[in-house]
Amino acid sequence: MPQKPLGLLERLVAGPVICAEGYLFEFERRGYLQAGAYVPEVVLEHPDLVEGLHRDFVHAGSDVVEAFTYYAHRVKLKIVGREKDLAKINRTALAIARKVARSTGTLLAGDICNTSIYGIDDASSHRQARRIFDEQIGWAVDAGVDFIVGETYSFGGEALLALEAIKRSGKPAVITVSVPREGHLREGWTAAEACRRLEDAGADVVGMNCARGPATMLPLLREIRAAVTCHVAALPVPYRTTPAEPTFQSLTDPHGISGPDGRPFPTALDPFLCSRYEIAEFGTEASALGVRYLGVCCGAGPHHVRSLAEALGRRPPASRFSPDMSKHILFGTDKRLRQDYLEYARRTYGSAPPASG
Ligand SMILES: [Zn+2]
Repeated sequence: MPQKPLGLLERLVAGPVICAEGYLFEFERRGYLQAGAYVPEVVLEHPDLVEGLHRDFVHAGSDVVEAFTYYAHRVKLKIVGREKDLAKINRTALAIARKVARSTGTLLAGDICNTSIYGIDDASSHRQARRIFDEQIGWAVDAGVDFIVGETYSFGGEALLALEAIKRSGKPAVITVSVPREGHLREGWTAAEACRRLEDAGADVVGMNCARGPATMLPLLREIRAAVTCHVAALPVPYRTTPAEPTFQSLTDPHGISGPDGRPFPTALDPFLCSRYEIAEFGTEASALGVRYLGVCCGAGPHHVRSLAEALGRRPPASRFSPDMSKHILFGTDKRLRQDYLEYARRTYGSAPPASG
């Protein structure tokens, strides 16, 4: 029975907050938007499916319903010839998210992101970015969001512009940067330095999202946690990135398999996907570092979110169906199973190593 939810900052004081992301990759896999431009056209064409994925993520343990307005800004809509749908796609995405958040007692988040036109010394691009942020934030405020996420900035300066725009709205601001292959933002700022500047400029939560998998995001999170006093966010992509290939854009497949662009990113990343247990381990480690705002970005499915929630000691509704191998026909232990099957499996596969916990 949903009660009036506590605000984001109150929840962060009390414990971890989980925010599921990854809507673009999931709908691309399902065939409802296109890899490349990655514009969330599914919001207009199949709002029922967007509502369904929000509900799947809440069922799996997300505390936040993030409106699917990522890349629903004028520059991105223009590139697919749908600039006229700008207001409609934002208002629709926010209305869908609001419906799910208010019916489940979760938080409603507005979402703005990298503009794809920002240039460091390009003043006209800064004006364009401000306009993009202000109009998307305006629709989010109209929808009554609880807070606003500004995400996936590889320019610290662009992240600061996004933060200023959110601050003008009076809503709490979660700002996450996306650290490229070189290990620093495009200006040369380290992730920790960018986060410290964002905290100084008034961000409520700072951290990282996208681009990096758990293995190559955790070391930078440690530096961020030491550099700021506010809450820290971490939403890696669920892919097995390495020190040599620290972002999902830089991964190469040992079998030589790649997508149409000659690299696994973004449509041939399947062999690198983290299991739910790796995401659980990430949740445990990030939590031990003091990271409170946790999620998974592009590539995530509800099973990852459920494991993250369980690693934080939660039992979301989807945990009712968390694995129980005792009833498996080959590897189970239940007395009702055919014992000759179990013996066959023991001969063929050996017995499993003892569970580690
Ligand atoms: Zn992402």
